[in-house]
Amino acid sequence: MSHSSNHSSDTSRGAIAAAFREKFGRAPAVVARAPGRIEFIGNHTDYNGGTVLGAAIDRGVWVALAPANTGVRRFASEQMPGVVEQPAGALARLSGPAAWVNYPLGVLAALPEFGLGVPEGFDFLATSDLPSGAGLSSSAAIELASALAFLAVTGQSPSRETVVKAGRYAENHFVGVPCGILDQGVSGFGRKDHLVFIDCRGPRFDTVPMPAGAQFWIFNTHTKHALVDGLYAARHHECMEAAQALGVGLLVEAEPAMLEAAKAKLAPAIYKRAKHIIDEIARVDATVLALRAGDLATVGKNLTASHRSSQLLFENSTAELDFLVDTLTARPHVYGARLTGGGFGGAVMALTSEQFSADDAAQVAAAYAKKFGATPDILHTQTGDGAALLS
Ligand code: ADP
Ligand code: MG
Repeated sequence: MSHSSNHSSDTSRGAIAAAFREKFGRAPAVVARAPGRIEFIGNHTDYNGGTVLGAAIDRGVWVALAPANTGVRRFASEQMPGVVEQPAGALARLSGPAAWVNYPLGVLAALPEFGLGVPEGFDFLATSDLPSGAGLSSSAAIELASALAFLAVTGQSPSRETVVKAGRYAENHFVGVPCGILDQGVSGFGRKDHLVFIDCRGPRFDTVPMPAGAQFWIFNTHTKHALVDGLYAARHHECMEAAQALGVGLLVEAEPAMLEAAKAKLAPAIYKRAKHIIDEIARVDATVLALRAGDLATVGKNLTASHRSSQLLFENSTAELDFLVDTLTARPHVYGARLTGGGFGGAVMALTSEQFSADDAAQVAAAYAKKFGATPDILHTQTGDGAALLS
């Protein structure tokens, strides 16, 4: 895969249509595509009712689909071996090598929950230029591309918000991953040269222009804290405990002054968690203003401040992530850097100017390798369009 890519939809549609013909001996009726996403700023704000900014990136998942009157659903992916056959209407969760089919199956289970119909028999082919399992939400991308394809062949066009909610429903209730609204919301509402703003309480979606020339560099450490699930649950619990102590339903309702007034009666850890969330929500708002002013320097400072808050207050960073942020922010052409996603391992994102080069990124990776004995994956990407039908 190339470091940076700007895919032409036409070329990609042709490529997946050809692969579909090879696999199923006929042309697809529709092709849909949905992008991956990065959490730009707004760390652990979602379940506190706060706001978050995400970026749809220029990589994603395509789904080609053709209805069949065989009563059989055939699922294939260029990234997975074999063809998985299911009788139309079967909605049992699959395991083993076929488990990836749970994403499109989950969408088929979700659509009726939103009053929508689903196709009976069909042939389905997915392909992707988005690394999967790398925190870029290939799961939301395959859900939304599947949803758009299923809706198109049944002649339905619900609101984008409904498609987003159906994708999330599939992931939460069928696949069983308790993700927030960021993944599907950004994949669904993404727009090239924009970021997606989400007020998680609605949820309410908006886009904010991204000043020209801004680039993303993602360094995935492939590290994962052994206790990550328990640590997530602990942070969630601490946030709810803080909200209760401050007399609010969710931390989004708490003012900084309320927190300071209550500081003496809060356990130090609870105070720190709440301060991170309250400050982070304010940083999201400040970042929206800086973006609207075209002020990438201030945007970058907010990103790095978000990381420092994760490091010192929310304590969801690690030595690996801190090293990457320190190394990146010490270099020219870097506006700012932060951990992206839940933390406790995973990836760091840097926002850079176009002058930041693959060579610069390689030097950062080499410094990391020298210290930690492993090389992070590097992905150079930028904003891209949200989920859409290509035909
Ligand atoms: P992430 O969303 O960060 O990429 P997840 O573990 O949530 O990681 O989702 C990855 C899963 O999504 C894969 O294990 C696979 O089941 C499914 N998936 C993603 N892309 C594809 C694809 N192109 N073909 C088939 N399945 C895919
Ligand atoms: Mg995912």
